[in-house]
Amino acid sequence: MQAEKPLPLLLLHACCAPCSSACLERLRQDFLVTVFYYNPNIDREPEYRKRLAEEKRLIEAFNRQVEERDYRGMLFEEGAQRIGIIEGDYRPAVFHEAVRGLEQEPEGGLRCNACFRLRLREAARVAAEGQFDCFTTTLTISPLKDADRLNRIGQEAGEAFGVPFLPSDFKKRDGFKRSIELSKRFDLYRQDHCGCSYSLRASQYPPA
Ligand code: SF4
Repeated sequence: MQAEKPLPLLLLHACCAPCSSACLERLRQDFLVTVFYYNPNIDREPEYRKRLAEEKRLIEAFNRQVEERDYRGMLFEEGAQRIGIIEGDYRPAVFHEAVRGLEQEPEGGLRCNACFRLRLREAARVAAEGQFDCFTTTLTISPLKDADRLNRIGQEAGEAFGVPFLPSDFKKRDGFKRSIELSKRFDLYRQDHCGCSYSLRASQYPPA
């Protein structure tokens, strides 16, 4: 009998639990996934910690499904693997340095490019160091984020560190809708802003 081919190792950069939920549901069937929580863009430490705690809670819930072989309500029945997590450094000064001069850019503009680049380059570095087969990000699930742009930045980061980037557009095939369903099911905290102080201000004072 032929031995089963081991699943490729994927490092998944994750911004938060709600966005991770539908991405993980898809990816965990085809990859051995380790989540990489690296988000120095999040302005306030309590908010950073809250999102991280929710990410861990989601992963624990998914791993419990594997242990109990209970996949009710999920898009698959079995074959899913346990998920790991690596926490990156939380140093907001690194983010502020990366976006220096771009502070006044609107959400979706050049500041976000720099923010994506910072996070994806660190994901590529960790993926290369950990000898992962590839890496990707949950960020493409957001309807507010351009998947082509993220994929280009991810590709460049992968080339710089010699590790393949897996292009994605997780919002396709109702991915975003599924993330809302899974967030309800796991009672996940859904934040009202992207993460940085500029996005927080925009959510508090939207343009008239
Ligand atoms: S709006 Fe979001 S993606 Fe853009 S710079 Fe702020 S945290 Fe980063």
